[in-house]
Amino acid sequence: MRRSIFLLVAIAGLLTGAAAPKVKLVEPSYTLIPGSVPLDKGPDGNSIFLDAPQGLIVVDTGRHPEHAELLLAYAKQRGKPIAAIVNTHWHLDHTTGNYDIRAAYPKAQVYATNAIDGALKDFLQRGRERADKLLADPKTPADIKAQLTRARYRLDHPETLKPTVPVTKSARMKIAGRKLEVHVAPFAATEADLWLYVPNEGLAIVGDLVVDIVPFMDTACADGWKKALVEVAATPFTTLIPGHGAPMNRAQFLQWKTAFDNFVDCGRSTRVKEECVAAWKRDAALFIDAEHSDYVTEAATYYLDTRLRSSPEEQQKYCKALNP
Ligand SMILES: [Zn+2]
Repeated sequence: MRRSIFLLVAIAGLLTGAAAPKVKLVEPSYTLIPGSVPLDKGPDGNSIFLDAPQGLIVVDTGRHPEHAELLLAYAKQRGKPIAAIVNTHWHLDHTTGNYDIRAAYPKAQVYATNAIDGALKDFLQRGRERADKLLADPKTPADIKAQLTRARYRLDHPETLKPTVPVTKSARMKIAGRKLEVHVAPFAATEADLWLYVPNEGLAIVGDLVVDIVPFMDTACADGWKKALVEVAATPFTTLIPGHGAPMNRAQFLQWKTAFDNFVDCGRSTRVKEECVAAWKRDAALFIDAEHSDYVTEAATYYLDTRLRSSPEEQQKYCKALNP
C-alpha cells in the first residue's frame, strides 16, 4: 500500500514536472562560544553548543584554559550536563579542552575521526620535541611555558585527545539522543575532518574546512579540502559556522570557497608568490580585519612555501594515511 502511494506521488511529480517539495527549515538553534586568533599566542577554535535529549553537545573545546572555563560556565548556567563532545579535527586549538570538560563530565562521549593516530606519530610528535626544547630554555616566558605544559600533558596522555566513539564514515547518527548528519571529509585540513549538518535547521558546523582570515593549511591536503567544500556547498545550509570567525550565510561561504580555490590554483601556478597572497587578501577581504592583515600575509606566504609550492612528495604528504 505504502509503495503504491509512493509511486503515485512520483508519477504525479513527473506529470506536473513539480520539483521535490522543499523541507521547511526552522531557525537554527545553537550557542556559539567564539574562539579567537590572537597575535601573540595560539588560537582557540570556535565552540558550538547544541541541545540534545541527554544534555548538551559541544562541538570543539578550544586550546586555552580560559576557553574551557567559558564552556563549563555555559553548561552550569544552563543546568545541563555536557553529554557529548564532537571534535571537527584533532588540531589542539579544538581538542585541548576535551580533558577539562571530561574532568567535570566524565560520562561525556567524544565523537571524532581516528586521524589523531597518524598525527601523534608525525606532526604532534614534532610539536612535542619543539615544546621540550622551549621548556628547557630559560629564556622562554612563563606564560608560553604554561601553554606548552598544558599541550604536552595532552600529548603524553593521548587518550585525553582521542575519540571514545570513532567516526569512520559519513552517517546519520544519534549523539546524546539527537539525530545529526555527521560527515567525514578525508584528507582535507587533516587526514580526516568531521563536520555536522543539522537538517531541519539548515545549520552546518564545519570546523577548519572554513577559517575566515586564512585557511590553516599546516596538515592540509589541498585537493581533498577542495572536495570537502564542494560537499558542504551541496547541503542546503543557510547558516554555516566556521572553525574560526563569525557564522556565514550561503553567499559568504561561496565567496570564501572561491577565494580558497583561487589560492590553491594560484599556489600551483607559476605566478609570483606575492600575487597569490594579494589575490587571497582581495578575494577574502570581507573576512580579514585590519588587525590581522600582516598575520594573514605571513600565514598565506608560509602555506604557499610549505604546502602548495613544496616538493611533490611534501605536497602529497597529507593526502594519504600517516598511520596505515
Ligand atoms: Zn583551528
